Amino acid sequence: MLIILLGPPGAGKGTQAEKIIQKFSLVYISTGDILRKAVKEGSALGRKAREYMDQGQLVPDNLVVEIVRGRLMEPDCANGALLDGFPRTVDQAVFLEQALPDIDKKVDRVLLIEVDENELIERLTGRRVCGDCGANYHVKYKSPKVRNVCDQCGGDLYQRDDDTLATVTERLEVYKRQTESLVEFYQERGLLSSINGNQDIDGVFDQISSVLEDL
Ligand code: ADP
Ligand code: AMP
Repeated sequence: MLIILLGPPGAGKGTQAEKIIQKFSLVYISTGDILRKAVKEGSALGRKAREYMDQGQLVPDNLVVEIVRGRLMEPDCANGALLDGFPRTVDQAVFLEQALPDIDKKVDRVLLIEVDENELIERLTGRRVCGDCGANYHVKYKSPKVRNVCDQCGGDLYQRDDDTLATVTERLEVYKRQTESLVEFYQERGLLSSINGNQDIDGVFDQISSVLEDL
């Protein structure tokens, strides 16, 4: 099973992904997480990606496409994967469509998580992430038991560099300009399911679960 999570930054894709991969035994592939790790490690990829990410811009397609191609070919993806944050441009989606038959895969469903814009800004600027295990929190909506400490591994929580108000505004614009057209792309292929992301985390997950259980 290959599932794509689509939606603006802050819609709750990473939050839902944690729950989806557990329930449906999928391998999680987040291009944002892979790029942030590369930046942290200072690898060649990270050095190229950093300037784009800091400005809230998309990293060039050719870099991202190579990451995803390599990852999907790894043996642990044989039984299914959940893509979060990829594709983000029509060119990336076309690449995926053309590359999948060669590795005996196809996209089974695209889950579009829709959330009002004011709420997105609130979610992104309040997001906190564990520096050790990557778990996701929110200062108001999903606070850890101990302030700034991860419930799962005890690591320190931090605010992503691109979650400041100025960069968040730019990322939402970039979504509208470069990513939103994927809604039509996948609608035309009969693959899109709209999920109401303006609900609490469990409410959103219930709706996603019923879509995936029907596949
Ligand atoms: P994305 O991966 O789409 O950018 P995240 O999953 O990181 O979004 O969610 C952004 C922020 O919003 C996080 O701080 C998360 O804890 C919070 N959040 C996610 N889903 C909800 C929800 N349904 N209601 C309230 N807050 C949420
Ligand atoms: P995310 O964690 O999905 O919010 O992504 C964080 C940042 O990583 C984005 O703002 C982009 O700069 C970069 N990025 C992640 N995925 C992609 C992608 N598929 N294409 C281009 N850039 C990406």
